[in-house]
Amino acid sequence: MLGTGSALVTRCFNTCFVLNAGEGDFLVDAGGGNGILAQFEKAGIDFHTLHHAFLTHGHTDHILGMIWVVRRIAQMVYADDYSGTFTVYGHDEAIEMLDAFCRMVIPSRFYRYIGERLIFRTVADGEEWDAVGCHFTAFDIHSDKTKQYGFNAILPDGRKLVCLGDEPYNPVTERYVKHCDWLMSEAFCLYADRDVFKPYEKFHSTALDAGRDASKLDVKNLLLYHTEDRTLATRAATYSAEAKTHFTGRVVVPDDLEVVIL
Ligand SMILES: [Zn+2]
Repeated sequence: MLGTGSALVTRCFNTCFVLNAGEGDFLVDAGGGNGILAQFEKAGIDFHTLHHAFLTHGHTDHILGMIWVVRRIAQMVYADDYSGTFTVYGHDEAIEMLDAFCRMVIPSRFYRYIGERLIFRTVADGEEWDAVGCHFTAFDIHSDKTKQYGFNAILPDGRKLVCLGDEPYNPVTERYVKHCDWLMSEAFCLYADRDVFKPYEKFHSTALDAGRDASKLDVKNLLLYHTEDRTLATRAATYSAEAKTHFTGRVVVPDDLEVVIL
């Protein structure tokens, strides 16, 4: 987990992570800026071996770091220090935004590799593809805020991991989520702290809600992220305990830079 926080955090990084099933790294979102480079360095992940990324939506805390990743890799291509291609998958609006931002802020000597060595690939609702030894399916989470896609990944051993982006589970996506082995779900705060952090007015939910959904969906393991950052010292214990009031499976609430063994 490169970051585990929600948009306005200052004590941890925005939610983004790398999935590795033994055949390379797959980056999911990139946080809100240049801090993504530091998170890669601290995690010991090398951009030379990063060839795939997924962008859930175009909000600041997810897309701006991707511009830095694109710039970093384009610079390596320019220096003849990167082999192969780097592909960013996302829905049409997110990909359009990423391309527009990159065109405006990345020097043209680097931007010219986009479409050639750096591929921005638009995926449709329900579209499937293979990468890093996994089989991915992207799906529209039908957000009311801004267009957002999650995905599920069938791992090489057949288990299924689902990422819901940064919004609560939406029942219209049930067929993509049900019976999964790992559900990665946002939990903005504890239900007990709802009056402090006001998750519902931000279209977010709580550890309690995520646990209830995970239970209904017959999920085996629940990972909570995209949280507030005022309770980091106690977050793993308190969020897990609250999610477990409804959910009997395993709950993981990782810290930034924590490696979660699936
Ligand atoms: Zn977010």
